[in-house]
Amino acid sequence: MPHSNGRQTATRWHILGAGSMGILWAARLARAGLPVTLILRNQVRLHAYEAAQGLTLVEGEQSRRLNVTAQLPEADEPIQRLLVTCKAYDAEQAVAHVAHRLSPNADVILLQNGLGSQQAITARVPHARCIFASSTEGAYRDGDWRVVFAGHGHTWLGDISADEAPQWLEELQRSGITHEWSPTILSRLWRKLALNCAINPLTVLHNCRNGGLHAHSDEVNTLCVELCALLEQCGQPDAAVDLAAEVNRVIHATANNYSSMYQDVTQGRRTEISYLLGYACEAARQQQLAVPHLQALHQRLTDYLKRHGLPCN
Ligand code: NAP
Repeated sequence: MPHSNGRQTATRWHILGAGSMGILWAARLARAGLPVTLILRNQVRLHAYEAAQGLTLVEGEQSRRLNVTAQLPEADEPIQRLLVTCKAYDAEQAVAHVAHRLSPNADVILLQNGLGSQQAITARVPHARCIFASSTEGAYRDGDWRVVFAGHGHTWLGDISADEAPQWLEELQRSGITHEWSPTILSRLWRKLALNCAINPLTVLHNCRNGGLHAHSDEVNTLCVELCALLEQCGQPDAAVDLAAEVNRVIHATANNYSSMYQDVTQGRRTEISYLLGYACEAARQQQLAVPHLQALHQRLTDYLKRHGLPCN
């Protein structure tokens, strides 16, 4: 349904994946008076949402409840703008359930970490414009439909097949979502993937905070050498520039933090390994590039996840 804000008709934001990032975006867009609808996975989740009477955004001492409409993937309302905030391993299937509802020139914004899910979705919805995003914001759920905005950050968005920024970026501005249009989004996603591969698996295997990797700097630096070779071979030389220096800076600056993969594992949640280290190893295989340390790391992490009863894909 079109929504009038008095001046013009705003396009509805449909948000698929009402978890940490989905609720964080939904709450800020709705707070700015923009029309937002959550797409929930099934009737059970829809009933639970209706019983909760909206979602809650917690920022510092303040918490604010917002009434955002929700619907099922089977609803028949066309979708003009879809924000996908599922985990990388759920995203393609979730989009498949609503693909028939996408308008011919719909925008699909993909907020997944790592790489692989974005390309799979782009191939699945060729009639839509897929926009890839990379975010340094941090949020977590402290209850159903309740999200804590834990880390302010920045979101880069870009389209790997067109340069022109969409008009609706102004709506992000209005909603207080700090962002930037990036003509080099793929390079950014590769860079983030490389940082993640050099840090996160080792924090799991050494059972430590990021700062604990100071004691394993030889291992970290060896991985960085292979990651740089991989980035260059994959046509992403800019993402390789000073990688080891940045990895070491991140380890230092976030010494007290637990990596997202570490937190997933300790909380018994599935990791996004296939879209991070798994993607890097598969890209190396396709390029016929030897990356023995990355492969050994992938194997060790896979074994570790299996031993802990977690999926290794
Ligand atoms: P999350 O809290 O687990 O949320 C994912 C949501 O997707 C869940 O609510 C899940 O539903 C929903 N979902 C899964 N399959 C679905 C389907 N078929 N239909 C409808 N909904 C479906 O994940 P997140 O932390 O927001 O992360 C999302 C992505 O953002 C990840 O790739 C992550 O790496 C990235 N990211 C996260 C952060 C952060 O701080 N959280 C920061 C930067 C990037 P249920 O609730 O029913 O399980």
